[in-house]
Amino acid sequence: MGGGLRNESLLALRQTQRRTAVRRYRMERAMRACLLYQPAKVETSPLRFEETPDPVPKGQDVLVRVTHCGVCRTDLHVVEGELPPRKSPVIPGHQVVGRIEKAGPEVKRFAVGDRVGIPWLHRTCGVCDFCRAGKENLCENAEFTGYVVDGGYAEYALAPEGFVYRLPERVADQQAAPLLCAGIIGFRSLRLSGIEHGGKLGFYGFGAAAHVAIQVARFWKVDVYAMTRDERHQKLALEMGAVWTGGTVAEPPAKLDAAIIFAPAGEIVPAALRAVKKGGTVTLAGIHMSTIPPLDYNLLYHERVLRSVANNTRQDGEDFLRLAEEIPIRTAIEVFPLSEANRALNQLKNDAIRGAAVLRA
Ligand SMILES: [Zn+2]
Ligand SMILES: [Zn+2]
Repeated sequence: MGGGLRNESLLALRQTQRRTAVRRYRMERAMRACLLYQPAKVETSPLRFEETPDPVPKGQDVLVRVTHCGVCRTDLHVVEGELPPRKSPVIPGHQVVGRIEKAGPEVKRFAVGDRVGIPWLHRTCGVCDFCRAGKENLCENAEFTGYVVDGGYAEYALAPEGFVYRLPERVADQQAAPLLCAGIIGFRSLRLSGIEHGGKLGFYGFGAAAHVAIQVARFWKVDVYAMTRDERHQKLALEMGAVWTGGTVAEPPAKLDAAIIFAPAGEIVPAALRAVKKGGTVTLAGIHMSTIPPLDYNLLYHERVLRSVANNTRQDGEDFLRLAEEIPIRTAIEVFPLSEANRALNQLKNDAIRGAAVLRA
């Protein structure tokens, strides 16, 4: 009896070992990821959660075992096709957090096991006029994570080590994810807005980027006025230290030194120009915006400036991550399993995310 039981348990053990070995073998070759074959309205769930071959690091690439990936409005523009497709199928996602699992033969800066973040700016050419002028964010041949190349809505992602950030140890993975685009782009927008210590700054829209940027603004003793249609977002803005909130194009009670438009709605532009002082800058933080209506020149006159933000330089990223640790920045997040990326994007589209959405791989 006893021997029979032992044999049975031995058999069960061997079966388990074999299943584990098979699973490990399969895992080495295939990962689970969200693939976009064809852009479509997110309500139709265009992302397919399926197995796809593991990426293999070559040259200076690192292979990152993804733990979390932030969900950005740009992902929504990729998924819905407002940005013309550059790769099909493509894995979206450009706020990728994880640890290096394998390194290409030429990797020098990082080692296996290092905790890193992969941002939107995937690679630049280093030789075009913009790159040589220190404006790599405008590189003519740039590649973008989760758009031109596969991104982080996956168990693994690749990136060149020169474009990967070391992450502040004090910030947990899921907290760090929204820093990588929402945070960095918000920071660049703050810089370009020209806002100074103690100034008055308007935010139009209060999603992932704004909820990080307000923490930097408050750290600089800047008063933030938040204009957003969603009452939950207005409430969040007040909780995070906004001095005043109002609707999408509400007129703030004081003239602003500068304004940043995070919402992708062109009709906000005239309202924002009306709200800033002479000489003030209105900065457009998004990669896509609906058509800006005709502008009365008086709105722009008196040296008001209307400018966009395109991507970021690595220096922006390094500077921001240092500041994020110093402040320290706390992100409000809603976590979704990787398999529910369509649902996360849907909620983002409907302003139903408080802070930033993050996928857990
Ligand atoms: Zn270049
Ligand atoms: Zn982004």
